[in-house]
Amino acid sequence: MSKNKSIDSIIVIGGGSTGCSVAYNMASRGKKVRLIERENIASGNTGKSSALVRTHYSNKLIASLAKYSLEQFMNFENIGYSGFTKTGMVFPFNANNSDTAREIYKMLKSLDIDEQKMPIKQLKTIFPDINSEDLDYILYEPNSGYADPVATAGSYASAAANLGAEIITGTSVEKIGTDNSRTYVETGKGFQYYADAIVMATNVWSNQLLMKSGITDNNFLPIYASVHDIIYIRRPEKYAGMKPTLWDPQKLAYYKMEGSSITAIGSLSPEIDNTEFDMKGDIENHVTDEYIEMELNNLTERLPGMEDATLISTATGLYDMSPDGQAIIDSLADIGLENVYVCAGLSGHGFKLSPAYGKIVADMLTLQDPAKALFDWRNFSLDRFKNGKSIKSMYSGIGTIY
Ligand SMILES: Cc1cc2nc3c(=O)[nH]c(=O)nc-3n(C[C@H](O)[C@H](O)[C@H](O)COP(=O)(O)OP(=O)(O)OC[C@H]3O[C@@H](n4cnc5c(N)ncnc54)[C@H](O)[C@@H]3O)c2cc1C
Repeated sequence: MSKNKSIDSIIVIGGGSTGCSVAYNMASRGKKVRLIERENIASGNTGKSSALVRTHYSNKLIASLAKYSLEQFMNFENIGYSGFTKTGMVFPFNANNSDTAREIYKMLKSLDIDEQKMPIKQLKTIFPDINSEDLDYILYEPNSGYADPVATAGSYASAAANLGAEIITGTSVEKIGTDNSRTYVETGKGFQYYADAIVMATNVWSNQLLMKSGITDNNFLPIYASVHDIIYIRRPEKYAGMKPTLWDPQKLAYYKMEGSSITAIGSLSPEIDNTEFDMKGDIENHVTDEYIEMELNNLTERLPGMEDATLISTATGLYDMSPDGQAIIDSLADIGLENVYVCAGLSGHGFKLSPAYGKIVADMLTLQDPAKALFDWRNFSLDRFKNGKSIKSMYSGIGTIY
């Protein structure tokens, strides 16, 4: 790894929350940064994100990343505007998951995360008509909330630019190559840019770029796309006002109470996570009436007054799924791309962790000793799937909560 450490210049491919955070973290370490995005900043999956920011994770390492990231969101004014809005989050569990949730509660407390047990009576002060018959154990995070994903990525990019980074939008990278042992990218506009290191923050499009760069499919990253529809409704007056997000593992959905009157319904279905989406498919017209009806019925079973909600719109985006639902942050030298690194496979929960990912990538590129980094980047290595070192979740049967 020693040759990684003389990195003075990098090219970041992808202007989502990951790429922009990496660009900012490297620029603030005095590195020469060029970020290349084929459309606009946050025009990929970041722009479709529910952007929920929570610390409730069942894996200690990931909970630590989430805690670090939440602190960054709470103090984001040093970087720019993230739109972070503290609403709190409620995690109610039935008997199937309550023992696991009790263990997770202890683990989160050991990290000094403000995780609280919530009596049903207290939940009923927030959602008076909630159907709580099946609920056994409820956790509450007062400090969690949601951010504005477009503003967050844009602020990281602007802060990086203020530190000297060059942000190039409307330009695709068509190929990563090596020329006389120097690594470069070739753009759709016919330019070649050289740098000491290249970071792919290209989400579900990572393998497409690897293919264009001459990598064969046996060396592709173990990442596939799954497609997720978000349903936006205007909630009836009885639920007006700021409310916490309600995670509902029983209904395999989360209900993000956005602003004072909008609710966004997102899926926690492992079946949806596990279904590979054909990248040539029609994302824009993916959502069906049946899906909307099913989600609205589930919501109404939990919150009966939602029967009077009005459907506003839907949005569809992609999750870049990895085998254990966690990011792959690694060098790609072993597949023949010397000086090329990746941060992808974020599996549908990578927005909230973007401050941590930016730091981990910057540490990987600039520090000598991974054991001395705040988060040892080797935990996210590509070979963990072969070496039995996958990152474990204590939950089973719930998508994207980990
Ligand atoms: C519907 C939905 C809801 C979500 N909700 C949450 C949530 O509540 N909380 C949470 O933490 N996470 C959530 N996520 C996940 C989170 O939004 C993503 O993990 C994160 O935003 C991904 O950021 P990214 O930068 O890795 O990818 P993207 O935002 O997809 O960025 C990748 C960028 O790379 C660019 N690109 C690709 N190939 C090239 C190329 N060859 N040349 C130049 N540019 C290229 C693309 O144009 C794109 O802009 C959600 C995701 C979706 C889809």
